[in-house]
Amino acid sequence: MFKRRKPVIQMKTPEQIELMRAAGLLVGETLQLLREAVKPGITTADLDVIAEQNIRDNGGVPSFKGYHGFPATICASVNEEIVHGIPRATKVLGEGDVISIDCGAIVEGWHGDSAITVAVGEVPAELTKLLEVTEESLWHGLKAGVAGAHLTDMSHAIESHIRSQGRYGIVEGYGGHGIGTEMHMDPLIPNHGAPGYGPILEVGMCFAVEPMVNLGTKDTVELEDGWTVITTDGKYSAHFEHTFAVTPEGPRVLTALDEGREWFAKLEG
Ligand code: MG
Ligand code: MG
Repeated sequence: MFKRRKPVIQMKTPEQIELMRAAGLLVGETLQLLREAVKPGITTADLDVIAEQNIRDNGGVPSFKGYHGFPATICASVNEEIVHGIPRATKVLGEGDVISIDCGAIVEGWHGDSAITVAVGEVPAELTKLLEVTEESLWHGLKAGVAGAHLTDMSHAIESHIRSQGRYGIVEGYGGHGIGTEMHMDPLIPNHGAPGYGPILEVGMCFAVEPMVNLGTKDTVELEDGWTVITTDGKYSAHFEHTFAVTPEGPRVLTALDEGREWFAKLEG
């Protein structure tokens, strides 16, 4: 008889969550720098240098660099690239591109992990909307991350919001995860599915939630570099991510500069 392995979810003390906030804030501030740096003419390798410098200058360690051999501090995924793009000196951003920047840092042994997708200059309205829908879906997922909820209540909140906004491809096979003393820990958090399944969330758990949404098909393929994941139809993709802690007061978004206050107020309104 086979038993499905039960995920073991690492519990954090309030003091450990403060260390995760330090890591999360460093990631959030780094992404803010990168958002301001994105413009036509900059390369994804330039962005990687900015990220590594800021993380190291502020007492952190880039968590992606060397992770299963990944060569850089950020993942930089442009247009039809969904996730895990490798920064390159030859990859020059141009007007009308969209770039997903995923970044992680370790502070005193604790991880933060967050991603944004940024428009380069002016982009078509359907891309602006894609970015909005993806970011909103992340926040709907985070809002469902309360003590007593089931894990897939977050998945369902993400999928429901995306479906309510139009016909999009919701990427499967990649998703959110537990986080703490490692970047990727149990459990996996799908970005789709029925509510009411999976472990019950408890105060002291921390997760990274990260929807990936495509303009066309949900189908993906990994490039021969062994990292970059792209859409099979070449249509553009967006990706947003935050790390949060389940607290007695609700989800505390550790990688958001304001811990999520503005977004949660917007969703309440
Ligand atoms: Mg990430
Ligand atoms: Mg992640």
